[in-house]
Amino acid sequence: MGLRTGKQYIESLRDGRHVYLEGHKVKDVTVDPRLGLTAQTVGELYDMQHDPEFRDLLTMDGPDGERMPVACMQPRTIADLARRRQAMKVWSDATCGLFGRTPDFMNVGIATLASAASVFDNSASGRALSSNVLAYYNRLCREDITMTHIQVNPAVDRSRQVFQQAKDIALKIVKETDAGFYVNGMRLVGTLAQFANDIVVMPSVVVNNDDKAGDYAFAFVTPVAADGVRIISRPSVVPQNPGHFLDHPLSLQYDEGDAVIVFENVFVPWENTFIFRDPSMCNAVYKQTFLAENYSHQTMTRALAKAEFMAGLACKMAAATKVDVFPNVQSQLAELLIHVETQRALLMQSEQLAVPTGFGTVAPSKMALQAAQLHFYERYAGMIDCVRTIGAGNLIGVPSYAELSGEIGPLVKEYMGTATLEADERIQLTRLAADASFSAFSGRQALYERYYQGDPVRKTCSYFFDYPKQELTSRIDRVLEKQRNKARQLGG
Ligand SMILES: Cc1cc2nc3c(=O)[nH]c(=O)nc-3n(C[C@H](O)[C@H](O)[C@H](O)COP(=O)(O)OP(=O)(O)OC[C@H]3O[C@@H](n4cnc5c(N)ncnc54)[C@H](O)[C@@H]3O)c2cc1C
Repeated sequence: MGLRTGKQYIESLRDGRHVYLEGHKVKDVTVDPRLGLTAQTVGELYDMQHDPEFRDLLTMDGPDGERMPVACMQPRTIADLARRRQAMKVWSDATCGLFGRTPDFMNVGIATLASAASVFDNSASGRALSSNVLAYYNRLCREDITMTHIQVNPAVDRSRQVFQQAKDIALKIVKETDAGFYVNGMRLVGTLAQFANDIVVMPSVVVNNDDKAGDYAFAFVTPVAADGVRIISRPSVVPQNPGHFLDHPLSLQYDEGDAVIVFENVFVPWENTFIFRDPSMCNAVYKQTFLAENYSHQTMTRALAKAEFMAGLACKMAAATKVDVFPNVQSQLAELLIHVETQRALLMQSEQLAVPTGFGTVAPSKMALQAAQLHFYERYAGMIDCVRTIGAGNLIGVPSYAELSGEIGPLVKEYMGTATLEADERIQLTRLAADASFSAFSGRQALYERYYQGDPVRKTCSYFFDYPKQELTSRIDRVLEKQRNKARQLGG
């Protein structure tokens, strides 16, 4: 099939999937008023792969000579990492960094697993599953599939292990046959699930290395439209009666959706299975395959685009009413610009400090990328606050864009201009800033940045454990020794 067009992508979503939203089954996600514009956004990203302006940035020759997304590459050099970042930045910029799971995120994930496929042959279960990972990767390169991924078990009682829950509702293996196995239960959070073709069920976080955890320890892929798959969406953040598209441009286009996914006795054939009944592999696979750092290469490229968008927005809002002549506003804007440069520096640094993986590929520096990520969610909350502070009452002091062509249009045109902007420009900019800073959409964005890649509290602890601290502490040893020597020389 090769690279898909937006039209082919949209068509692929009309597959009889079971998506539930606000109490009803969605008939067709591509035209539903709460979902349709997001499907269109993803379709536009796929169309960019065919656009002469972006084609060579976004796509490359695949293993069989056909073009494939650059995000599917398995980077072998620092230059490859830079090329991948440039490609990912194109889609991130196209969506202002506000679309967390553009399809390149999972492209990077599957390419990474495939580059380290031999890991999947070392299973305690005795099954050699690397060929399944490789086959899926090859299919991805050929068919340009859109994926969502789910790795979190339901929150019932977080103080106990998954196999000790008062309600046994987490996704688990319930039956095994010659052809495969059946799973039943729930996983979350599937961002983009409503708009994906396949669900990649990744190893759940924190599985105990215990035989009893075996039923819950797996990784596999299944079509969204497979029998028994139910996508249960969170309520939409898309306003249902928008006065005008330009009143809520971000909410309307970039609500990528989040869902819990219930599997009712879903059959998984062996060929779609990456890990089976193997808690120790589930725990080790992220580290052994360098998945976390490759995921973060995509997410921090996106974060840079988002930081640039928010900083640009704040500067433009400040210039609109010339509050940027005041030192307090200048210092707030400078803080945003410093965030942009810090994100950029850490992202570049991650490529320069890339390490060989032992699989013939290189991985960007985990420490640089995780530092960027662990700072970003707080910085992002600050960026939203900055737009609100600079926008202040202006954010609610403009009417709907629709008023410009309504019966009081001439009045609105007369009263809504600023020193630098005509009324229409001011309303459009201000509504964009409002959507980015105090809409339901912006609230979900802040939550996303905090949690999309795991709990920051535990991730910060992991950072402490993983950091090569020995290099730093041995330096202190040398300083102490030097000072002891000096003290001896001074007769102490
Ligand atoms: C908008 C959004 C999109 C997401 N998209 C995806 C996605 O596409 N795919 C996916 O797989 N996941 C996704 N996630 C889920 C994300 O991975 C989880 O939210 C994250 O791992 C945290 O788990 P939890 O939400 O179940 O929180 P919990 O684990 O229930 O934690 C709740 C709170 O309790 C604390 N806590 C819990 N357990 C411990 C412990 N053992 N020690 C110390 N503190 C603890 C945490 O610090 C946290 O503050 C998404 C989340 C959000 C909010």
